[in-house]
Amino acid sequence: MLTVDAYAAPSATEPLIKTTIERRAVGPNDVLIEIAYAGICHSDIHTVRGDWGPISYPQVVGHEIVGFVTEVGSDVTLHSVGDRVGVGCMVNSCRECDNCLAGAEQYCLKGNTGTYAAVDTDGTITQGGYSTHIVVVEDFVLKVPEAIPFEAAAPLLCAGITTYSPLSHWNAGPGKRVAVVGMGGLGHMAVKIAHAMGAEVTVLSQTLGKKEDGLRLGADHYFATGDSATFTELKNSFDLIINTVSAAIDINAYLALLRLDGTLVSVGAPGEPLPVRVFTLFGNRRTFAGSSIGSIRETQEMLDFCAEHGIAPETELVSAEDINEAYERVLSSDVRYRFVIDASTIA
Ligand code: NAP
Ligand code: ZN
Ligand code: ZN
Repeated sequence: MLTVDAYAAPSATEPLIKTTIERRAVGPNDVLIEIAYAGICHSDIHTVRGDWGPISYPQVVGHEIVGFVTEVGSDVTLHSVGDRVGVGCMVNSCRECDNCLAGAEQYCLKGNTGTYAAVDTDGTITQGGYSTHIVVVEDFVLKVPEAIPFEAAAPLLCAGITTYSPLSHWNAGPGKRVAVVGMGGLGHMAVKIAHAMGAEVTVLSQTLGKKEDGLRLGADHYFATGDSATFTELKNSFDLIINTVSAAIDINAYLALLRLDGTLVSVGAPGEPLPVRVFTLFGNRRTFAGSSIGSIRETQEMLDFCAEHGIAPETELVSAEDINEAYERVLSSDVRYRFVIDASTIA
């Protein structure tokens, strides 16, 4: 066992505080990673505040992790001491269900092991990346290409893959009109990736406050959803809409923006339901879909795609003591566009 420094939520209502946690001893298939940077995802906030249901406390969150390998188990073949690596939203899966065997372990039928707030194979609750070190089984560890600046690489491990996966699955590319709802951590990555894939990209944000940024990041068009004229003007327009909004929105108003055979994919994960009117789906034979992160193979593909296209998240580096303030800014949509914790300030 290894005792390491971390920032944990003591309860659903209290600020995160500095603490120590135990990491398991490095097993034959494990790597020990000294964490350099950890991104702050809105899911971290949903989780610690109980939006998705009760969890046990204290809980360390964080699933956008990059760092250096400092120790490897005796049977490890994929990684070496000194490697630049990343860990995303899952740290294991059953490896034997139909979905795992199909290479879609994020959809493991027994539930993948989340990087935090999940029951690990040894029965303990997993603790995430707001910490100085983490021990992870080698095949759930990604290689971070040198071409991606290290602090900017962290958010790719969730915000990057969560948007890359549906964009790739639903064939965003030349000739496709893609809309991104919400210009936050996931949304700004969706804009960059969809643009790099060659799609025509429209941002649907609450206001025009981030329009200049959106266009600079690769959007072709930018509309305010606070203006009802937007929904009239864009009716029957899009092949694919990626909804990244963390709160419940009137999903039927957005479904109506899909053209024939268009698909709206929700990656945003509010605790409340998003009620759909079937008649809205009937028009244009529309599809309402969901998507959860991406597989390990696809995550490596996304990292290599970003390196090749010179894509990296827009980040604001914060010290561990500023995590609680960063949470408030995320909750008020005041993030440009991902907070990343400098893990050296956690110790
Ligand atoms: P974020 O940085 O807070 O971005 C969310 C954006 O949604 C905001 O920037 C804002 O964009 C918009 N928004 C927020 N509240 C709104 C409201 N009441 N009405 C309309 N728009 C609103 O969050 P994130 O880290 O990108 O995460 C977004 C969501 O995705 C969260 O629910 C998170 O849990 C979920 N998530 C899902 C997966 C998955 O695998 N499916 C993975 C990661 C995260 P504008 O200011 O542009 O309007
Ligand atoms: Zn996340
Ligand atoms: Zn499985």
